[in-house]
Order: sequence, then structure tokens, then C-alpha cells
Amino acid sequence: MKPLQELVRPNIWALTPYSCARDEYKGKAASVFLDANESPYNAPFNRYPDPTQWEVKELLAKIKGVRPEQIFLGNGSDEAIDLVFRVFCCPGKDNVVAIAPTYGMYQVCADINDVAYRPVLLNEDFSLSADRLLAAVDENTKAIFLCTPNNPTGNNLEAKEIEKVITHFDGIVVIDEAYADFSQAPQFRNQLEAYPNIIVLNTMSKAWGSAAIRMGMAFAGEEIIELFNRVKYPYNINLLSQQQALALLKETGKVHDWLRMILNERAKMLPAFAELSVCKRVYPTDANFFLAKMTDANAIYHYLIEQGIVVRNRNSVQLCGQCLRITIGTPSENNAILGALRQYK
Ligand SMILES: *Cc1c(COP(=O)(O)O)cnc(C)c1O
Repeated sequence: MKPLQELVRPNIWALTPYSCARDEYKGKAASVFLDANESPYNAPFNRYPDPTQWEVKELLAKIKGVRPEQIFLGNGSDEAIDLVFRVFCCPGKDNVVAIAPTYGMYQVCADINDVAYRPVLLNEDFSLSADRLLAAVDENTKAIFLCTPNNPTGNNLEAKEIEKVITHFDGIVVIDEAYADFSQAPQFRNQLEAYPNIIVLNTMSKAWGSAAIRMGMAFAGEEIIELFNRVKYPYNINLLSQQQALALLKETGKVHDWLRMILNERAKMLPAFAELSVCKRVYPTDANFFLAKMTDANAIYHYLIEQGIVVRNRNSVQLCGQCLRITIGTPSENNAILGALRQYK
């Protein structure tokens, strides 16, 4: 890995971050707060929320097996993705490399930040070729984006190939593990000490059933997390989201129950879907969704809409021609789509 100072945008390296009113005191217990121009009424919502989200991070650290200082919390993982560009990439000059097809947000954030985006197709079976990905790197490549299990293909990328990317690239490797809870594969979040150039993304939006509270996470070395904290909006996670996250982190049994139900349903859904006459192929999945090659993806997509059933049409995505991406729902939701497709003529 290059020294961090060579990877970070010079203006960010030199940045003096905004100092919140509450940053200045610290230590002594206080009970009269006349420092932030807040209203004294309407507690607890009158007070600015903790900009470091420390209580959430302390609980999360235990669950995720990292130190709180290695955690960044964002308004969804999308905030962390955007910060990768804002911290590391000089607009109009630097570029990033990413697998394709993959999650659309990496390219959107690259475009917004005026950073060149270099997609490299996965193999036909959606596996990763580290050598081909690395061949797209040049001296202005600041980051490589990997997603495992990958969206929309559903498969895990092979750990050996990911390791090859990490060890042969001297910039930042972002590993998006949004769906890792649904998979048995080892998680790179546990490798922060071995690989100082990785940023691992997790989210509460999928297995944790909390997309509405917008709670995304990045795990990385402390220096990288400190840079993210400098650049983020000071109060990026509101009080309601912090409270809701804390409540769920104290009740992880619920999350495990949901996970078990979804994995059970996935095991039933995949063979049932593959049996449908409109389905040519169900791709293997390690996530809470699967990609299916259909006889006519566009027509079937519109037919399902008419039945009030929404899936994701991936027909126009490279390597995903005639494919629909379908989320695993409740048993009745899954039966609804199977029933509708059995009636399709
Ligand atoms: C759904 C998803 C996310 C989650 O994004 P949030 O902003 O945390 O809701 C992240 N990465 C991938 C690949 C996803 O599919």
C-alpha cells in the first residue's frame, strides 16, 4: 500500500474539520448546556445528536469483532461509498476500477464526483478474475470496488481472487459485504489488521431489516476512519436512527430469527422457481435474492407488474440478458410470485 498521504486528496489531508459545540467540553460531567443555541424545550429532540455515535459503535464493535475506532457510520452505506470518492479521488484526474455488473451506486458516486469509472466484466459465470481487474489499474487509480456476495448476480467472489487484488494493488480496495450475513463465506471485516488498504462495507438495510433508518457502516484502519469522520456532515446520523439501531443491536436474537426464516425460504424458493416453465436458469446465490434467466424477461416483468408484483428487471445489464433479480420475501409473497408465474401464458 502507498503511504496514506499519497492516496488522499491533498485538500482533505490538510483539512481542518468543523468543530461542533459539543466537541470542546468533553470529560467533566455537565448539566447546563448553553453552548449550541439549542432550545431548552422538547427533550430529547432539542439536543444535537452525538456526532461520533459512540454508544452505537461500542455495541456494534462487540458484535462485529472490531474496535469502535475502526467503525464509520453513515446515512446508509451509500454515504460511505460517496466518501471514498471525496476523500481519495481528485475530480477530473483520478479513476477507480470496479467489477461489472455490480451495485449501481459506485458508478453514480464516481460520476457525481467527476472521477473516471472503469468497469471490468466478471467472467461469464460471474466469477472474478483478479488479473483482468488489475490490468485496468494505472497510476491514477485510487480505489477498486468489489462486492461480495455481488449484486445483482448473487454469488460470492472467490476469496483467493479478492486477496490477490488486495495484495497486488497499492491503493484502496473497497469490499462491499452488504449481503454477507446471508453467506457462509469468511468476511473481510475480520482481516483489517492483515490488510490495511481495505474498506469493508456492511449495512443494517438487508439482514438487519432496517433500510428505513439509513444505517450503513464502513470498517477500516483508524487513520482511514478518521479521514471519513473529518469529511462527513457532523450530525450525519440523527437521534431516531441511533436509538433504533441501539434497540436492535440489543436484540440480535430477532435478527437471527429473520435470517433463519429467509434462508429457509431461499432453500425452498430456488428449486421451485427453477421448475417454472418461464424460467431457463436460476443462478446460484449467497444473498437474500437470486438472479433468474427467463424466457422473456421484459414481458414477464410487465406481466408481474400487472399482478401487483415488483421484481428487478436486469435484462439490459451486461452479462444479465433476459434476467430478473428476485428478492426472497415471506412464504406468502414467495408463493404469490410462483403462483402468478405458473399462470403466465
Ligand atoms: C442494498 C445494498 C447496499 C445498502 O445500501 P444502504 O445505503 O446501506 O441502504 C450496499 N451495497 C450493496 C451492494 C447493496 O445491494
